[in-house]
Amino acid sequence: MQPTDLDFDRRHIWHPYTSMTRPLPCYPVISASGCELELAEGCRLVDGMSSWWAAIHGYNHPHINQAVAEQLAQMSHVMFGGITHPQAVSLCRRLVAMTPLPLECVFLADSGSVAVEVAIKMALQYWQARGEPRRQLLSLRHGYHGDTFGAMSVCDPDNSMHSLYQGYLPAHRFIDSPQCAFDGDWDERDVDALEKAILADGDTLAAVILEPIVQGAGGMRFYHRRYLQRVRELCDQAGLLLIADEIATGFGRTGKLFACEHADITPDIMCLGKALTGGYMTLSATMTTRPVADTISNGEAGCFMHGPTFMGNPLACAAANASLSLLEQGNWPGQVAAIERQLRQGLQHLRLHPRVSDVRVLGAIGVIETRQAVNMAALQRFFVAQGVWIRPFGRLIYLMPPYIIQADQLSKLINAMSDALDHPHHFMQG
Ligand SMILES: *Cc1c(COP(=O)(O)O)cnc(C)c1O
Repeated sequence: MQPTDLDFDRRHIWHPYTSMTRPLPCYPVISASGCELELAEGCRLVDGMSSWWAAIHGYNHPHINQAVAEQLAQMSHVMFGGITHPQAVSLCRRLVAMTPLPLECVFLADSGSVAVEVAIKMALQYWQARGEPRRQLLSLRHGYHGDTFGAMSVCDPDNSMHSLYQGYLPAHRFIDSPQCAFDGDWDERDVDALEKAILADGDTLAAVILEPIVQGAGGMRFYHRRYLQRVRELCDQAGLLLIADEIATGFGRTGKLFACEHADITPDIMCLGKALTGGYMTLSATMTTRPVADTISNGEAGCFMHGPTFMGNPLACAAANASLSLLEQGNWPGQVAAIERQLRQGLQHLRLHPRVSDVRVLGAIGVIETRQAVNMAALQRFFVAQGVWIRPFGRLIYLMPPYIIQADQLSKLINAMSDALDHPHHFMQG
């Protein structure tokens, strides 16, 4: 890449959540393999982000590369309307086998946000078909479900974009997020808000939507498994659908294949994305039960009303099949457990650091919550100088490395995180 490429980028290309007039610096990456990103100027960074939960097997994986190349030689794409193909069938077969038994109908789409849109539309069509239209969803504060309009409308109303789009978003019902930590004691009062909301509005609610166990982009919070069990019970009592957004947590990240397994519950609708293709391409899946699928299909519309152009894209399905076959080989539980142990050992003592308000570890996720918001540009520059790729936001510095990371690489990430805390200019003042 030339310096002029970076100039062009700054002037013409939007990056996630950035300004066109005051963009934060971007680092040019020209290749990636294993757990490392290679920058244009030649240095290598140990990757602590898995490209936002996705690259669980690392980059440039020979098995996934080969599967995608073989599919490319067959066909890169074909429409899914009136046509099916072997990659989609084997992927959906795998997903049905991997997920809890009642989830047996799969809708493939292009991204996590669209999987959430699809889940919301399924819930609305389900109630429509029952002759009892219900349009409200119940969601948790600190939740994150994506950036499209339907998904945005169920994200945390304060830390997301609700005020910006006021009047444009459907008004859903929010309750406080659970306070009992994953590894803390259970307090039954944690479900008071949910019980009250269901009592007050239960017969107008279509579904409860939440991220099971780990609230990701809305705060990196890990809550108690009993909460999830109580949500399931209360949904059952009130006849509400439960939508589990496993887009970040799915495929082993929390130490279970799906975070719902921590609570032994099955949602009525489950959203998958991010790591589905091992981080190779964008693809998502929304899964539901036979009764929900049948009800929707027997409704007035006679079908489910969604059908993306690139639905079931064969290249993406091939990447997903290869990634899931790596998971099926069964090394991931040991890898994630080893990462969890090392994160605990390496991060726990930072709880006492004056700039730190909390340290949390679950599975292959390690989080330092700081007292002050980070200065993203300064901190990012520091991390790159240390040879690591860590992307903090708000008051959160966190790791979710590829499962294949080696102990010495993970140490490098942990040390960089720890050292970063000692520099006042990495944090916003006041
Ligand atoms: C990332 C994410 C989404 C949105 O997925 P995209 O592929 O970015 O549209 C939705 N829900 C959760 C929990 C996520 O982490």
